[in-house]
Amino acid sequence: MANPKRAYSENVSGTFFVDDTCIDCDLCRQIAPAVFTEDDDHSIVYRQPETPIEAHRAAMALVACPTGSIGTRSKIDIKTAAAAYPELIEENVYFCGFASPNSYGAASYIILRPEGNVLIDSPRFARTLVGRLEELGGVSLMVFSHRDDVADHEKFHEHFECRRIVHRADSRGINAEELIDGQDLLALDKDLLVVPVPGHTRGHIVLLYRDKYLFTGDHLAWSDSRRGLIAFRDVAWYSWPEQTKSMKRLLDLRFQWVLPGHGRRGHQSEELMHQKLKECIEWMKNRT
Ligand code: SF4
Repeated sequence: MANPKRAYSENVSGTFFVDDTCIDCDLCRQIAPAVFTEDDDHSIVYRQPETPIEAHRAAMALVACPTGSIGTRSKIDIKTAAAAYPELIEENVYFCGFASPNSYGAASYIILRPEGNVLIDSPRFARTLVGRLEELGGVSLMVFSHRDDVADHEKFHEHFECRRIVHRADSRGINAEELIDGQDLLALDKDLLVVPVPGHTRGHIVLLYRDKYLFTGDHLAWSDSRRGLIAFRDVAWYSWPEQTKSMKRLLDLRFQWVLPGHGRRGHQSEELMHQKLKECIEWMKNRT
């Protein structure tokens, strides 16, 4: 619960505020850009919501915030905001909201499939979200992009009795039912392809769904400011040269969406994504 006594003085006065527990995960700025902005190394409220839609988006940000750093000085409709997750991205692909501090506020996603729903990385195990996932058919499979974004996976596994898949090199401390070995591409089903991409961590993978949606964990993200794809040199925990090499593997894939754990989502034509990926690789080569 955010504490108004610890609210940043840079927040504009009004209902919503951010307190000093913010970890700068960026989610609120993505969900409600009309209300939240970055200030140094944290978020603040730079403008109070002026319409019901803006108020709803700000409340959704409050629900998604991993650290409970967003508060309000008067009562707002949290119930409707919480029930808005999972939030449709496109077709049958959804953003879960409800981020966990244990994965540093990483975004997680669910694909609703007749063959069984797939949860990519772990959201917070929140009662409202779990109830919504039950209504949507539960979770059959959890796929982890890497070791940092597994958050409440044990609770999801126990509740939904879902299988969990992670690369062996990132599996320490995670009792996954299935481990991915080596660097070969692995088809989990006709529409789901795992591509190992060591770099951010040794066992990082990305998941391609229907040659359209690429779930990228912390390997690759979209940058609004650069209008292109980016990788994060400062958090390449395993190896930046390896991450650069891994990035080249993605040139053989077709996709229109980049759906990361951290960073912004990107949606472009296949051709433009391919072009942006080539530019990203060139940029990475020059950042040793
Ligand atoms: S969602 Fe919460 S932790 Fe993340 S940037 Fe916003 S206020 Fe900070």
